Amino acid sequence: MQMTPGPTAVPPRVRNRMSDSMPNPDVEQSFFDMYDDVCSKLQRVYDTEDDVIVMGGEGILGLEAAIASTVAPGDEVLCLSNGLYGDGFADFVENYGGNPTLVSGDYSEPLDVERIEAALDSSDYKVATMVHCETPTGTLNDIAPILELLHDHDVLTVVDAVSSLGGTPVPSEYIDINLGASQKAFSSPPGLTTVAVSDRAWDVAEERDPKSLYTNLLPWRDTSEMFPYTHLVANIAALDESLSMVLDEGLDAVYERHEEAAAHCRERGAELGIDLYPDAERSAPTVTAFHLPGQAKAVQRELEEEHDIVLSTGLADLADDILRVGHMGYNADIQKVDRVMDALAKVV
Ligand SMILES: *Cc1c(COP(=O)(O)O)cnc(C)c1O
Repeated sequence: MQMTPGPTAVPPRVRNRMSDSMPNPDVEQSFFDMYDDVCSKLQRVYDTEDDVIVMGGEGILGLEAAIASTVAPGDEVLCLSNGLYGDGFADFVENYGGNPTLVSGDYSEPLDVERIEAALDSSDYKVATMVHCETPTGTLNDIAPILELLHDHDVLTVVDAVSSLGGTPVPSEYIDINLGASQKAFSSPPGLTTVAVSDRAWDVAEERDPKSLYTNLLPWRDTSEMFPYTHLVANIAALDESLSMVLDEGLDAVYERHEEAAAHCRERGAELGIDLYPDAERSAPTVTAFHLPGQAKAVQRELEEEHDIVLSTGLADLADDILRVGHMGYNADIQKVDRVMDALAKVV
């Protein structure tokens, strides 16, 4: 059994849908209708009236496309970070010729509002980037007040909500480019990037006019006549089915199911005397990071070899210090969490 924080297990209903015969995505109107339907369903999950587009390509495509489409050489960009994905935005900005100011702290600390205010007072930024859920540390960032601050300073905001969307509410009101992917809380296979784009972000992209195709958001603005390239039709059908499942259950019920699975996972961890990374208050409803300094890899290996339970460790410097249980989408399920924790109890 896989309980990783992405790619998540794909429910049978979604797998069945992928085995249907598919319309030709370049030719048949029924594909265009299905795509439009997916985008409307995503607007409900994103809780936005902004355009939502779905690009063919795994979630990282959206992160790169957001920067490629808005950042011109020499542009000042504020990259807010307390994790690997947050830091990674600064690399994209540099690759596209922008000047990143990275406001990054220790990965166990919250985003530092005072430092962000000081940065905003000392320079004019065109774009700011941040991550809602830092999956590698299981941290959910409180981004709403920061987004409001950036809105007051007229800065375009780019948010990576890949591992929170569909599992917990994302404060979309002041987000200009809001990034998701199929393989996290939507429980679809990897392969699609979802992007909500505000009118203002479209204007910035039009002005930037990037000379790329694959990492350019603009060709996706109007896809009523054609797509920039052959779309991933089986993946779109899968996402359509996943979104129907989420909306049939109801967003509030889905979010509550995630809260309950997360709370249960943490309670069982506490019974075993295992700490959380960084703390309970900021732990994400979609992923639990247990702090097992110097043991995470060995525990992960034993769970897989002896108990057929697949979890993730931390990444980079924290690789051997964090063990992560993904309880997102189809895996936000108390029985599944119990199976993981029963096995973990035998190992630690
Ligand atoms: C999973 C994830 C992505 C997409 O990257 P992958 O290569 O699929 O891991 C981007 N951002 C965050 C925060 C993620 O959790």
